[in-house]
Amino acid sequence: MKYKRSLLKLSGEALMGENKFGLHSTRFQQYAEEVKKVVDMGGQVAIVIGGGNIFRGFPRIKEKTINRIEGDYMGMLATVINGIAFQSYLENVGICTCIQTAIRMDEIAEPFGIDRAIHHLERGKVVIFVAGLGNPYFTTDTAAVLRAIEIKADVLLKGTKVDGIYTTDPEKNKYAKKLKNISFDMAYQMGIKVMDQTAFILGNENDLPIIIFDINKRGNFKKVISGEKIGTMVSK
Ligand code: UDP
Repeated sequence: MKYKRSLLKLSGEALMGENKFGLHSTRFQQYAEEVKKVVDMGGQVAIVIGGGNIFRGFPRIKEKTINRIEGDYMGMLATVINGIAFQSYLENVGICTCIQTAIRMDEIAEPFGIDRAIHHLERGKVVIFVAGLGNPYFTTDTAAVLRAIEIKADVLLKGTKVDGIYTTDPEKNKYAKKLKNISFDMAYQMGIKVMDQTAFILGNENDLPIIIFDINKRGNFKKVISGEKIGTMVSK
């Protein structure tokens, strides 16, 4: 195993599958099975879960219906819904879990705490971080980088529907080439959209490798953890 402790970022987009909105049961089940494969081989897995499949703060602001801060809190609550749902799927495949939230809601989840999170991971529990950073104006990508640094994860894995970063948009240009490795500086200069720029800056400053990979291909999560060169690695 190349990466003993990993942080997996699951975006709302991945969780809604082919749907335009909401929770896609087949996807939740599939991702739970993917996580189980890694846990079964002794990997420590923490997860930051997004909420864009239910609510994203930003587009509403453009519509001038819901204010930015309120919209962002709604987005953070959406991540809690996804986290609770994913907890069920994980437990149903036999994984012990713990949800930690950045916004206190004691009946539902443990408050975020670094030491307790590491304690759970060392005992084989999967920790699901919800409510992002608990602060408006942030995203769950940034939360994922920060949590990964805090729990001293060996790597941050961003599971998406694309299999990495390309020179140009592969859907528009057939000559687009997949990049196996790029530096944080290059990712920043290229204005890569697959992950927030703030996330890349934090990753760079703290020397946290980030791998963008296709989570929908079965077995990929385990392969990345095992050290197979899948997706694109962004590093120093
Ligand atoms: N959000 C926030 N602060 C955070 C994390 C998330 O305000 O620390 C809000 C923000 O409105 C965001 C929404 O929650 O649009 C859902 O998160 P995100 O868009 O990152 O989810 P994903 O793209 O992964 O589905």
